[in-house]
Amino acid sequence: MNENLENQIKEELEEINQKNLTRKIDNLRFVTSTRAIDENGKEYLVYGTNNYLGLTHHPDVIKSAQTASVNGTGSTGSRLTTGGTFEASELEKNISSFKATESTLLFNTGYMTNLGVIYTLCKKGDVIFSDRLNHASIIDGIKISKADVKIYKHKDTDDLERLILEAVEENKTKNSTNTQNNTNEENKSENENSLNKEPNFFIITDGVFSMDGDIAPLPELTEIAEKYNCCLIIDDAHATGVIGKTGKGIVEYYKDKTGTDLTPYVDLQIGTLSKALASEGGYVTGKKIYMDYLINKSRPFIFSTALSPATLASANTALNLLRENHEEYLSALRRNTRRMRELLSEGGLNVVEGETPIIPIIIGPAKLAGEFAKKLEEEGILVSAIRPPSVPDGESRLRLTIIATHTIEEIENTADILIRIWKELIAEK
Ligand SMILES: *Cc1c(COP(=O)(O)O)cnc(C)c1O
Repeated sequence: MNENLENQIKEELEEINQKNLTRKIDNLRFVTSTRAIDENGKEYLVYGTNNYLGLTHHPDVIKSAQTASVNGTGSTGSRLTTGGTFEASELEKNISSFKATESTLLFNTGYMTNLGVIYTLCKKGDVIFSDRLNHASIIDGIKISKADVKIYKHKDTDDLERLILEAVEENKTKNSTNTQNNTNEENKSENENSLNKEPNFFIITDGVFSMDGDIAPLPELTEIAEKYNCCLIIDDAHATGVIGKTGKGIVEYYKDKTGTDLTPYVDLQIGTLSKALASEGGYVTGKKIYMDYLINKSRPFIFSTALSPATLASANTALNLLRENHEEYLSALRRNTRRMRELLSEGGLNVVEGETPIIPIIIGPAKLAGEFAKKLEEEGILVSAIRPPSVPDGESRLRLTIIATHTIEEIENTADILIRIWKELIAEK
């Protein structure tokens, strides 16, 4: 036993507690896609899931999971041993066809996809340009890669270009020192083998940013990526099944807006099966050569047991439902989103403007955001309070997510309650 360690941990936990930032797990059981009960049987209307189309409770999705389980619950091994199920490869083909890409590879979560793609492709000497508000899994993937990182200001493509030019200059200096050092043949070949390449540049960004719900400037990013030979990777976790006329994500969103199809200019699109696709798992999609490489080299892919047939079958059914019924689902999602945004703004709440179903309401102090969420919970409404370290100090917020299966009455009632409680809270201050 290491008492010292335990004391350090205790101290740190007390510090977190004093700041009112202790995190805890609440058990929930979803009885429908929008309503859940807690362990005392109290029912809540939930505004915090990533279940954008409500497909977790669609009878076809549930049935496909049940049917797939008949052939065993677990996948029994990694894809490269005995876990290469029919369901996995069927889903990969379906995603490639949906996204109009050459090839797709599944990982066990969206988080693992970012790790598995980034630290496999980005090597020592490479430079990754990363948006300041990228998802934690991108940040962690970058951290464990041996590449250099330059963080650009959120969605600021001028700042991005400035950092790329800086990296180009730095590489020139490095190369000239390298050449000077390679005075004999032996040294030279050694150097060629260890780095055996020009350094590569990567631009990595969320498509829809998970905290603010805003959308990356893809047309400018593709332009910069082309100009400076960067591999462009977009994490479309909150965009797939959510934005674009048929829910294909950020590429389609800009195609609707500008008429230009940017599919060929995005090298890799990353996504998750855990949000609009109502299941669990992650994927990367793009040119086949990347998938071939990842299958051979990506440790999170190679050394982890593949997803179960039931998990994959339900994601595949959800994707098919989206492909068949996008108009119905997405028009409900957009109607609900617009109505909630409109009502909350009219009611005087500080809503961060945008068009996605992620609706942040800026509150300010962490304690006030916590109280607001607590009062809503008492009224049977679950909304997450987002506090530091997830957001900067003084920018604590409520974060609502709207889904397609909320009814318009639920949206209107909830908006009324939110506005009333907010007024009570500021009257008390
Ligand atoms: C949710 C999310 C992930 C993680 O996906 P999981 O499947 O939940 O692991 C990765 N990237 C972004 C941008 C996300 O929003």
